[in-house]
Amino acid sequence: MQSQNTLLEQDQRHVWHPYSAIQADTPIYPVKSAQGAHITLMDGRVLIDGMSSWWSAIHGYNHPVLNQAIAAQLHDMAHIMFGGLTHQPAVDLALQLVKITPEPLQTVFFADSGSVAVEVAMKMAIQYWHAKQQPNKQKLLTIRNGYHGDTFGAMSVSDPDNGMHSLFSNTLTKQLFAEAPNCTFNQPCTVEDIAPLENQLKANHTQIAAVILEPIVQGAGGMRFYSPEYLKQVRALCSKYNVLLILDEIATGFGRTGKLFACEHANIAPDILCVGKALTGGYMTLAATLATQEIADAIRDGEPGLFMHGPTFMANPLACATALASLKLLLDSPWQATVSNIERMLTTELQVCQQYSHVKDVRVLGAIGVIELHQPVDLKTLQPKFVEAGVWVRPFNKLIYLMPPFIISTEALNMLIGAVCKVVAELEP
Ligand code: PMP
Repeated sequence: MQSQNTLLEQDQRHVWHPYSAIQADTPIYPVKSAQGAHITLMDGRVLIDGMSSWWSAIHGYNHPVLNQAIAAQLHDMAHIMFGGLTHQPAVDLALQLVKITPEPLQTVFFADSGSVAVEVAMKMAIQYWHAKQQPNKQKLLTIRNGYHGDTFGAMSVSDPDNGMHSLFSNTLTKQLFAEAPNCTFNQPCTVEDIAPLENQLKANHTQIAAVILEPIVQGAGGMRFYSPEYLKQVRALCSKYNVLLILDEIATGFGRTGKLFACEHANIAPDILCVGKALTGGYMTLAATLATQEIADAIRDGEPGLFMHGPTFMANPLACATALASLKLLLDSPWQATVSNIERMLTTELQVCQQYSHVKDVRVLGAIGVIELHQPVDLKTLQPKFVEAGVWVRPFNKLIYLMPPFIISTEALNMLIGAVCKVVAELEP
């Protein structure tokens, strides 16, 4: 193996990282391996994972059951094109997704990443209205502080400020935005919370194909939690104004908020649902867009009678087989109790951070803990502090947040939270 310094030098010179630049001055840490809730760096340091590789590695790393699922599938085939061909892992996974998601969702389109699943959802909504002889319904309506991915369609419905809309203003589709609700998870939804979205629907519903939202938790746009009552009212308004509801559960899906899907907090069903991230337990890149029978039938029966999307690696068998194994692991486990234990520990132990003048808010929902500061963090100085404290935590903007793998031990979670609280305390001016 190359020396760590050579690897870092080559990486800095030639390799792009997410939201970074070539030869950026933020630190990068070479990883040797990862096991359970622990990441081993090339220099031998072992970090407790607080990120689940961005919501995805819910079962931890190097899980024998997931490893075995990949090995078994590899024996048959790693990949096969999905145009005109099908296979058992794709069909089994589709059936399983239909079974565990809200009842009206009956059809599954496999995509390669969350952003693509969002593009597919938007195209489905537009094609649906085209098929229903309402081709004017092409706009998407969403709320501020949302995040749906980095491709152009997904960017167009992400928060205009966080999503840097001005940078891409000549190419980005102009969508409709309403203020996000201010009611937090445990609060009732007031008229002021819902009015902005309702007004947009009232004024523009003849042009709106769908409302797209992250249910209950707005992730990368601010880690905000909002009231299930708001989501309930959005569902009712979409039905009233003849607009489809797309829910993006790419981050919230598969237990993270304490329900299998966050829309269950509001007991509602979308017309179109996007899942990804934890779908394969963080092993492979796979996402899916589910739609109702009504949408699928309308697209088939309309013009041109086909849904116009088809990625090369659609329904990759290795990814589907891993996703099936990951779902089985999750559903066979006492995941509700596990997530509520993590929630309890995060709630109790992160509270100390509330006392600091530089901390604006501490909030917890399911296996998500958020410390919001008054000022944006300096990643360059903060990231090494977390690594020195033995934890992998990746803050952004004003947010230091934790979403550990569900399999994390009580002891490791205690150490993780303790280390984060210590670093936050040291940030006090
Ligand atoms: N939607 C949401 C809610 C997300 O959190 C993300 C990823 N952070 C995406 C979409 C995009 O997924 P991907 O990065 O897999 O394209």
